[in-house]
Parts: sequence; structure tokens; C-alpha cells
Amino acid sequence: MLELKNISKVYKSKKRKSQALNGINVSFGDNGLVCVVGESGSGKTTLLNILGLLDSPTCGELFLDGTNVNELSEKEKDEFRSQKLGFIFQDLNLVESYTVRQNLQLVSERDDIETTHNELMEMLGVIELLDKFPKEISGGQRQRVAIARALIKGSKILLCDEPTGSLDSTNARKIFETLKEISKKKLVVVVSHDVETASKYADRIIEIENGKIKSDKLACEEREDRQELPQECNEHKAAMSPRRKAKQLFSIAIRYAKLKRVRFAFMSVTALLIFIMLSLLTAIASYNENSLVARTVNAQGADYFAVTKQFHGVYDATEYGISEFIGDVEMTELETKQLEKDFGTEADRVYAFNEGSLKNVHYDSNDPAITPSIPGFYSTGIHGSVELTNEFIEKYDYTLYGRLPQETNEVVLSEYAFKIFKFGGYESDVNGREVTPINTHDDLIGKEIRVGENGDYKKFTVVGILDTKLDYERYDFLGERIDDKLRFRYDEFKSVLEISPHTAVYVTENYAERAGLDKDVIKNVFIKPAKTVKGIKKQLALGDLKMRDSLPPPRADNETIDYCFYKLQNEIICAVRGVNSIFETVAKIVGIVAIVFAVILVLLILSYFSGVISDRIKDVGVLRTNGFSKWQICLLFIFEALILSAIIAVAAIIMSAITLCVGGYVFKSYYDLLFFPVRFSILQPLIIIGVQVVFATLGILIPLIRLMRKKPVEIINAGRQ
Ligand code: ADP
Ligand code: MG
Repeated sequence: MLELKNISKVYKSKKRKSQALNGINVSFGDNGLVCVVGESGSGKTTLLNILGLLDSPTCGELFLDGTNVNELSEKEKDEFRSQKLGFIFQDLNLVESYTVRQNLQLVSERDDIETTHNELMEMLGVIELLDKFPKEISGGQRQRVAIARALIKGSKILLCDEPTGSLDSTNARKIFETLKEISKKKLVVVVSHDVETASKYADRIIEIENGKIKSDKLACEEREDRQELPQECNEHKAAMSPRRKAKQLFSIAIRYAKLKRVRFAFMSVTALLIFIMLSLLTAIASYNENSLVARTVNAQGADYFAVTKQFHGVYDATEYGISEFIGDVEMTELETKQLEKDFGTEADRVYAFNEGSLKNVHYDSNDPAITPSIPGFYSTGIHGSVELTNEFIEKYDYTLYGRLPQETNEVVLSEYAFKIFKFGGYESDVNGREVTPINTHDDLIGKEIRVGENGDYKKFTVVGILDTKLDYERYDFLGERIDDKLRFRYDEFKSVLEISPHTAVYVTENYAERAGLDKDVIKNVFIKPAKTVKGIKKQLALGDLKMRDSLPPPRADNETIDYCFYKLQNEIICAVRGVNSIFETVAKIVGIVAIVFAVILVLLILSYFSGVISDRIKDVGVLRTNGFSKWQICLLFIFEALILSAIIAVAAIIMSAITLCVGGYVFKSYYDLLFFPVRFSILQPLIIIGVQVVFATLGILIPLIRLMRKKPVEIINAGRQ
């Protein structure tokens, strides 16, 4: 069944060549106990390793059941090892982190080894050891477990390298007796330097000297059987199913994952902290103004966008270089139609008529609320006129108190304008500037007011108050106190007041025609925000549209106007712009910090997971000798990497989400912002899972691939060191 033809083995190192085997010709039968004896260094182990397909000869041929082993693929050799060959070494027989039971299950097609292999284990006395770990049992017991494993596997050939080398003589004798029993049915090759014991049990003794066979003798003494080998040892076992092996590997991986908990805890806590930091940093770095605006507008149901047409120009002040500038232009009716086309929605015009301020607001200059340092809430600015209709009111869901203007000298004021009158009082133009307090809407309705520039104003009678839904709670105390925390909100409000429904006056329909005014002076328009975040983003993106037709004329020779664009504005956009400048700078710095953290994290993960392998080389050796293939072992460690990675990644994702939500909330409430500036998105889990899994696997694979390039015997030797 085993035949060696002219086998030689030469170990080549840089300095030396050493011939471990030199022209070995020998064959073995189907059973019997063959002892290979010889002095240390004579080549016994080398011979056994070649017999066991753990190592390949330099030259010569080995036939196993008539098959030339040289012609076998790596995979077929693994199969041979897993089915036909059983190994018993002096050491390194068992997976240390496995119980005896699990070590045995490793090679069994079924988990219930107690019933399926009871007789065999009874004979070997391992039944009571099943739940112990290798380090809890004696050397002799370990050897029995190894023998049991070889038999459970259904090995036809048992290869034993100094199996009794570390045992006392009583135990050594017992092991030999067992092997002797087994050799009735199977071929048992025992390598031993203990010639005396060996010759007592051997059927045949092969003596090796300097890599050559010195003698090959049959032993004469024939001993009586005392015990029969269990029947099951005669059966031919089929190869273990790949699924069973994968399951085995997965359970080893789980066991491995449970080892070194303290070390793992240290690593994972560090990784976790860095991951949280990275999530925060990436959330900030991926901050994007438009998507933040779109989300917030959508979430808060903002009811309008004020759109103005702006121009971008370049100013060449020869000595001081070139500077850019931006300004707004009034639109013609034609341009406004174009705007409606661009935005795909109807637009409500605000004409430049009556631009200026409300003239009849009385200010008590002794009022501490009206000091130059706190211009705050109370502004009388008016940016234009809207021709008010019921459709307009309905469209924006506004409420009108009083009635629509019907004459060209009638006006509806915004709720905000009413608040200003309420704050200061109404100062009439006649009767020596008599001041009337304004407390209710009715106090203001019927009053005569002037609107416009100082020298150029119009007189109106107030006929109604339109609530344009300004969030008064959010802004009206700005008149009283502005501390640093409210700075954002103050700036936000100042921008809102530039152009908004709150700072327009509302005049009668067809006001322009009836007053004989030219309508091509459209200051801005109001449009409804789209219903979806995506739609809003599209609207905002129109702000990047560069229009190069019909540019306004430059105001000076050294000015060039290069393009026009739409500027969208409302409370939320103003709020976002307020923090935007901060975030844009922060995002840049944070991006760099994130890269540094990411590098540290990657190194941490790589070093931890590559360290995992070096602790397991022994076990890899045991698995390899039991016929587990390279790929299966790679799978084992990838399982382990994935299990550990899953723990870290899940924790990191949860912690990051919590940190970002809490952090966002704290930031939001501290500055009383309308929105969360940072957000937990799909990006963070993707980064966490990606980095963790990729680098853990890479960390495992780098040393593993190097290890797998080695022959099984080299792995065993590496494990012994
Ligand atoms: P034995 O088991 O009889 O003690 P070995 O088969 O282990 O002997 O070794 C035979 C010879 O081959 C020795 O001279 C030893 O130094 C050499 N040898 C064994 N393994 C290696 C190896 N991996 N690299 C180089 N030389 C080796
Ligand atoms: Mg040896």
C-alpha cells in the first residue's frame, strides 16, 4: 500500500546542503507495526513526513495505494491526509483552544461522537476526557486522543513520530500496546529512537543511518491478541462533506474570537473611539449646504423661496489687482417669464414700487431697546410691492385681517410691519406728529401712512394686515438682547429682512396699470418650494446656473459683468448660510484630521489582525496534518476576522449614530439653529464596515498567505518554535 522508490531529500540553506535521506527504497504492507529507528538526525522524521505527504522528496517516487504521489495536486494530497493518513506526533497533536470532544469532532462527519465512536473511545480511555481541554490532560492521554482521532477519521495508515518521546515508561508501554492492537488492521509506522521498547512491539524494524536504510528486519516474536479493534475501524470512511468542514471552521472561528478577550477589548475600544471620531469628522467633512437646506426646508415645510437675479462681475483696479463683486438686478417681465420656465413653476412678482421704508413708525429714542448697538428686530425697510390677490394668500397659506386693497392708495401691511408699529406707535403726519399707540390690528387699519424714500414716497391708507407667518418666537426678542449665542440668529434675521414677504407692502391688483407704472422693474419673485427633498435640491441647484444673455451694463470702464445667476433666499437658507462659513472652514481642517485618524485606525486593525495568525500557527499545523486545505484554513481566519469585525462595526455604527445625533442636537440647541448641521447618513456605516472588514481581512490574509505558501511540515515546524 505504501512504496518508496529511491527517495532522497536534500535540505538546502544558503550556507549548507544537508542530505537527510539518501536513496531510500522500501515498501509497506496493509497492516503491521513498523518501527523506524535510528540516531537523532538520521532522517527518521524526514522519512515520516514524506510518507505523510507533509513534505515532498527532492527526488524519488512515493506510491500510495498505487498512486504516484508526485502526480497528485495539492488538493488531492489534502484529501489523502484527511481520509487515509493519521498523524501522532510527540507534541502538537491537538488544537489547544478546543476540548477533546471538539478536537475529535473536527475529523468526524457527525457531532455525536459519543455514540458513533463509543467503543473506540472506550478502548482508548478517552471517553471521560471529552470535555477537558488539552492542557488539562496528561501527555499519555493526549496521545490517546490523537490515536482516537486518527481512528475516527478512518485512517488506513497511522504515522507516529516519537509518540512516546515525552512519556514515562509505563505510559509509553501502554501507547505501544494500543498501537500494536491497531496494527492488526492498519499500517502503523512508528518512528522512535527508543530501540528497546520499539523492538518489543514491532513486527518489523527498519534502522536508518545517515539517511540510508542500514537494516530492515522482521521481528520474530508474535504476541497474542488481548483485545479486538472495534469493527468500525475497518470501515472505509467517505471524505467529510465541504459543508461539514465549513461548519467546523466556523465554530473554530467563533471559539478563536472568544479568546484573548482583554486584548481584543483594548483594540476594539480604541478602534471604536477612532471610528466615532471618524464618523463625526466625515459627517462634518461631507457637509453640503444645498442638501442641508433641502432637507431642512422639506422637514420644516418652509412656504416660500424669494428668488432674485444677481450678477457677478470683475473689477480691475490695476494697482490693487482684480476683485470680484456680486449685485442684484431688477428683472423685466420677459426675464421673469424665463425664470418661471427655468424653475418650472409660477412666480409671484415683487415690484420695485414703494421701495424704501415705513415712515410713520414712532421711535422713542429714550427707549433702551432702540440703541444703535441693537438694531435687532425693528427695521422699517420695505423692499417692494406685491399685487395682492386671494390666490396669493391661499397659495402661501397666509391669513388676511381686514380686506384686500381695491384702490391704488390702499395698502395691506405684513404682520411684521404691524409689530413694528405696535412696538413704536403710530406717528401721524398731521396734528403736530401726534403719537397713537397701536395695540391691535384695528388700531392700525384706517391709518394713513407714507411708504418709500424720504423725498419720494406715496401715501396709503392701511386696509388690512397680512400674516406672512414669520416665526416671531424665534426672532422678536432679538430687539432686546443679543449675546454671542444669538449671533447666528441675528445675522440670519438680518438676511431674512433683505427680501421676504415680511418686508413687502401689498397693493391692489393691477396696481401698475392703474398707477401708470412700468412693470419691468421686478425686484424679486416668490416661488413655492418643491414637495420633495430632491425637488428642492433641483431648485437650489438652479442657483448655479450661469446666465450670460442680456447682462446688465457695467457701471464703470474697468468693470466687466460676466454672468447672472438666481439667488434663493428664505429663513432656512439664511440660517444655513449663517453657519455655512464656519462649517466650510471646519470641513477642510476636519478632512485632514480624518485622514490622519483613518491611517492610525488602519494600522491598528492591520496589526491586530495580523497578530491573530502568529498565535495560531500551531493549530494551523494540526489542521493541515488532518487534511484541512489551505483554502479552508483561510476561510477559518476570514470567519474569525468577520466575527470580530462584526462586533466592532456594529458597536461603532451604534455609537456613531448616538454621538452624531446627540452632538447634532446639542449644537443645534446651543445655537438655537433650525437644523442639525451634521447628520448620520449611510456614509458612516459604509465607512465603518468598509474599513473594518477590508483591513481586518487584509491583516489576516497578509501573514496567512505567507504561511500558506509553506509546506505542511514547515508550518508544523514553525508552530514548534
Ligand atoms: P531525526 O528525526 O532522525 O532526528 P530528521 O529527519 O529530523 O532526523 O533530520 C535529518 C537531517 O536533516 C538532520 O541532519 C537535520 O539537521 C536535517 N534537517 C531536518 N529538517 C531540516 C530542515 N527543515 N532544514 C534543514 N535541515 C533539516
Ligand atoms: Mg525526529
